Order: sequence, then structure tokens, then C-alpha cells
Amino acid sequence: MKQSTLFRQLEAEAAACLICERMQDRKAVLSKLNGSLMPKILFIAEAPGRNGADRTRIPFHGDASGKTFEQLLASINLTRADIFITNTVLCSPRKPSGANDKPTRAEIRNCSHFLRRTIELLHPPLIATLGAVALDALRLIAPHDFTLKEAAAKVLEWNGRKLVPLYHPSPQVLITVRSLAQQLEDFKMLGQWLKSR
Ligand code: SF4
Repeated sequence: MKQSTLFRQLEAEAAACLICERMQDRKAVLSKLNGSLMPKILFIAEAPGRNGADRTRIPFHGDASGKTFEQLLASINLTRADIFITNTVLCSPRKPSGANDKPTRAEIRNCSHFLRRTIELLHPPLIATLGAVALDALRLIAPHDFTLKEAAAKVLEWNGRKLVPLYHPSPQVLITVRSLAQQLEDFKMLGQWLKSR
């Protein structure tokens, strides 16, 4: 079956998924708006944000994290046509107040088969996780011992694939953990790796 047909099936399955109780009124962010089906890099982030992907349906677009991500991507001359972005959970987890929340372990486990099937379907030359939650979520697909602190911006072997753990480009992370200047350096390494292939 054609890759585009298989992707449409995956998209339809995710759109109909109601497994996570607190996300039953949210719609999965998985469509052609996530990017190319033949990406140079598959980015995996944590979850669609309230003002970002959950609103715009485009991962990392429409909020502060998205603005930084777009800046990082442009810094190595990549566009959305070169990449695909997905999340450890496809729906937007919210606190009772409506604010963004972290996905629970159970929600990440529920959604793990969508992530595994996306990776298998796209077969990307490089996977880049954005943040510790995304890096940890890969363990549900195949084990690894990487920590973000030790492995950040290194090209690693995982599950027969190339993996680069990166920090999340959220405002909080930029201020407290990994500055914009450092994240630009991390992306520079990604760009160099792509050129060296
Ligand atoms: S987050 Fe994933 S598993 Fe949970 S309801 Fe949405 S699509 Fe289904």
C-alpha cells in the first residue's frame, strides 16, 4: 500500500481515538500539516500546546515555543517542507483550569503505538527529540539509557536509527536550562550532520 494511503489511515485512526479520558474533547494533531512524509528529520516533542498546535493544527506554530522552533529551523536553512513534527501524545493535555499540562505516563503509553507507527512509516534518516519527555517516550518503543543532560546534541544509535536528543524550545527552558544561543549551536550540529551525509 502507498505511504500516503497508510498515513491517511493513521491520521483517521488518531482522529477517532478516545482512549485518553481527559482528552476526549480534543482532536489529535496528525495530518499533512505536520510536514513531509519523506523528512530529513523527524522531530518529536511533548504534546500539542493550547495556543500552538491545538489551535493552529500545525505543530510548533502559533505560540512562543513555535516561534523559537521556527527560528532554530531557519538557522540551518530548513523549512517545514524538509521535516515532520509529531508529539509523544497527539492530543493536547490540559489542567482543569484549561492551561497546558504535561502528559501522564499512561497517556504517553496509550499514544506510543501512534509514535512507533509514524517512525516506521516515515523511516526518517534522523530522529530529533525535543525535551526529556520525548526522549523518555522512545523507551516504550525500544529501550535506551540516554539522558538529555548527557546526550544533548549528540548523534546516537537507537533502534537501528540515528537519534539526536535536543532540549525543548519553550520559553521556560530557554531561560532556565538551555539558552537560545546554546540551542542554536545544537541545531548547527544537526545542520552539519545533514550536510555530511
Ligand atoms: S493522546 Fe493519543 S492515545 Fe490519547 S486520545 Fe489522543 S490520539 Fe488517542
